[in-house]
Formats: sequence, C-alpha cells, structure tokens
Amino acid sequence: MMEAFTAYCFDLDGTVYHGTEPVQAAVELIAKLQENSIEPYYITNNSSATPEQVVEKLAGFGIRTKLEYVVTSALVAAHYCRENLPGKTVQMIGEAGLAAALEAEGIQQVETSPDLVVMGIDRDITYEKLAQACLAIRGGAKFIATNGDKAIPTERGLVPGAGSFVKLVEFSTGVSPIFMGKPEAYMLDYIREKSGCEKKDMVLIGDNYDTDILAGIRYGITTIHVNGGVTSSEEVREKERQPNYLLSNLAELH
Ligand SMILES: [Mg+2]
Repeated sequence: MMEAFTAYCFDLDGTVYHGTEPVQAAVELIAKLQENSIEPYYITNNSSATPEQVVEKLAGFGIRTKLEYVVTSALVAAHYCRENLPGKTVQMIGEAGLAAALEAEGIQQVETSPDLVVMGIDRDITYEKLAQACLAIRGGAKFIATNGDKAIPTERGLVPGAGSFVKLVEFSTGVSPIFMGKPEAYMLDYIREKSGCEKKDMVLIGDNYDTDILAGIRYGITTIHVNGGVTSSEEVREKERQPNYLLSNLAELH
C-alpha cells in the first residue's frame, strides 16, 4: 500500500486534525511516508488560511512540509480566476487565505460593482457583506465559491462551513456558483499538473464522503475514507459508490 502511490493527498480538517487537535495516526502515517521520501500534499476546502499559516499549523503537530505541498480552495479559486477570467475585478467574502491568494495572482479586489463575487468562509460574516454580494450578483457579477461544505469539524464539533453561507446567497439571488473545492476536480487537477504524476499514482485520504471521496471517485483516483470526521463509516457503507478503502483509523495502514 505505502509504495503504491506517489501523490498522497491528505484532507486536513477531520483527517489530519480536528481544529486544534492532531489526529495521531495521521501524523504517524505522514512521518512514515516522509521516511520513504514521499512528500504528501495537504488539500483543504477551507479557504481561511494562507499556505504559510497551514505550514505553521502542521509544524505545531510535528508535521514538516513546504508551501508547495499545501493546496487550498482559495489558491485554486484565485488560479481559476487568473486563468479563465483574466482582468476581472473581484469582490471577496473571505479571510486572509483568500485575500492573499487573490493578491498573489494579481487579481484586483474592489468594494463595489465587481465582475466577480468570490466567496469563501468568513467568520466575521455580516448581513452587510451578504447584502453586497447579493446586489453584485443581481447586477450581473459571476458567482464563484471556494467550497460548498455544510459544516467544518472542529474541536468543539461541527460548525457552519462556507457552503452554508454560499447557500444563503444562492437562495436569495437564484444564482448558483461555480464551486472550486472538492468534490469538484479543480484541486486534484492542480496537484496533478504541479506534480506531473498520473491519476493512477494519486490517492485521496479524507473524512468527508460528499467532498473528499466523491472528488476522488469522480476524478478517477484511489480513495481512502477514514472514520472520525464529518461522515461516519456506517454512513459511507450506505452509499452507492464506495471508496477503495474504508478505515476506522489511519493506523490500519501502517
Ligand atoms: Mg475533512
């Protein structure tokens, strides 16, 4: 199992950690891969953190990695805007991770009359921000969402994810966004392009069936579901399309 892949894509929230608590079996597995000269990718739908912040957080759990191995929905959203919608202005709802990603791609951020609304998790969300996004979309701005996650696993339990607020804007405007995060293929495609690996060399390890596992299944790579996060093993067993591996704990891979 260990030597079968070259690109291990670890989901973060609920797989490698629960908020501020590391998942020990994941930390050990990553160390073991690195002993075998395999540098895993860390792939998160959460757009709030910059790659620098993710590297720092992982370091706090004893996981050493570099910026190039961190792939967030914010990076991929900004990359998408630059590649497919060059020169467009953006009104952003989000945190430092999304702001930095847009800036790094040279995308101009505006307060009013944007060409695009790019929306990620914003834990300082207000009625006014939501109103501005809705007005911009009603005015013709294209709607891009970093991810559609209903909930985020934290040390406190499941709290609302970006998708819950995206749904509000969608409900109010009647406009559906283009989603960047899993289960869409953009993040996995980004890794495949960066690493130069083939789909048969990629494995996605995650806790959330509707994002991680479906992304991997749809993209055509190996998937490992691990219990303890958003979707329980029991819930996964009831799904029509099954992951390649269904684990109660990543220690089973050692
Ligand atoms: Mg997760």
